[in-house]
Amino acid sequence: SEQTYDVVVIGAGGAGFSAALEAGEAGKSVVILEKMPTVGGNTLISGGEMNAPDNWVQHALGITDDSAELFYEDTMKGGDNLGQPEIVKILSEKSLGSAEWLRDVVKVEFLPDHLFQFGGHSRKRALIPVGHTGAELITKLKTKAGELGITIKTNMKAEQLLTDESGRVVGVEASTNGQKVTFRANKGVIMATGGFGSNIEMRKKYNPELDESYMSTDTPGTTGDGIIMAQEINADITNMENIQTYPICNPITGVISLVADSRFDGAILINQGGTRFVEELERRDVISKAILAQEGRYAYQFWNQEIADIGKTIEVHKDEYEQLIKEGLLYKADTIEDAANFFKVDAKTLKETISKVNEYAKTGKDLDYNHRGGLVSLEKGPYYIQKAVPSVHHTMGGLVIDTKAHVLTTEGEIIPGLYAAGEVTGVVHGANRLGGNAISDVITFGRIAGQEVAK
Ligand code: ADP
Repeated sequence: SEQTYDVVVIGAGGAGFSAALEAGEAGKSVVILEKMPTVGGNTLISGGEMNAPDNWVQHALGITDDSAELFYEDTMKGGDNLGQPEIVKILSEKSLGSAEWLRDVVKVEFLPDHLFQFGGHSRKRALIPVGHTGAELITKLKTKAGELGITIKTNMKAEQLLTDESGRVVGVEASTNGQKVTFRANKGVIMATGGFGSNIEMRKKYNPELDESYMSTDTPGTTGDGIIMAQEINADITNMENIQTYPICNPITGVISLVADSRFDGAILINQGGTRFVEELERRDVISKAILAQEGRYAYQFWNQEIADIGKTIEVHKDEYEQLIKEGLLYKADTIEDAANFFKVDAKTLKETISKVNEYAKTGKDLDYNHRGGLVSLEKGPYYIQKAVPSVHHTMGGLVIDTKAHVLTTEGEIIPGLYAAGEVTGVVHGANRLGGNAISDVITFGRIAGQEVAK
């Protein structure tokens, strides 16, 4: 069968929805194709936090010295300057507007009085959606899509881009339950299929180190389809070898730990010997590497009730907390000794480590790892100790786009009718994506793609 829309969006994650909403707002007829039975992608299962420099929560908390320039510097540096400057510039200048759009137009609720300072950021600037997950974003984006009359087709897998004799992308060949469906696009196609973290063969092709010995935090739909489809019509790719592991994941399932977001409120990392070995707010790649260099290739995160009460990560991620307790991967203890004994960590060394942390918390200077957020005193229990391993999380590489989200060929020319946004693109995060920058990226460039295709 064949259907015609102005705009065909492939992938119903944060980027796909943002693109669809902008094109819909501009009066275009829009269809979103999603290969999984449900929408949301990795955006849904993420923590949903979003960096926006100089945002309203910063103001409420008295943080007045953040700027797009600082955000730009942090992001470029965080990616070893491999992100494209003109693209990162757009990210830093438009992320605040993207957050305000989510808040005012999409009606996403963010916590009014709490922010995270993710690794590599020089300021606390990540807005937190209520519930601390991407569910708040996807629920509201989907509601808004419904209001705009956007069609969503789940179980609909895009398989091939259709071009006319001039090379312009004019549609998508898709399939549902083994049946072929052709979607014609009057204005254009937007690729928003996410990354390739769940595609082990593709990971190995570009970076042999990230083989089957690593689990992944990603949804099973994260298989790089959009990259492959676009490459078939000569699209360029970049940064493919840069695959990020998230340092603190479930050692049994590979799933990201959101309970462990207490790290952004002061939780420390220790090894089996009971000592710290890295700055806890370092970049994800640095922490992951440091963990893999420890005995057993794992680490423990350690915090107390006082830290737990700041971000309330246990309350908001209660299901995960109970699961971890049941699996014996997280333990609540009255004393440091009790916590150490549960995982057979050297208790004497752990006590010494914690005395030092307490001293650094008092003086405000972490003489061992220079914790950029400032350490928090661990004098008082009860305590939490959680076992963690790194797991494949974000693929920084992907399609090359220009500042208007056009997909470019290997010769650097625009492919007419084809746009891309989100994790499927490879020009934003360089060697390493900073925490909270994925949502800023997918919303910002999703919106740009939607606005441009509608022109
Ligand atoms: P982003 O954060 O860039 O928006 P997500 O992972 O949140 O990326 O969303 C990407 C979505 O695209 C996922 O829901 C995924 O299942 C979907 N997807 C991936 N490949 C295809 C495909 N071939 N056809 C349709 N949908 C796809």
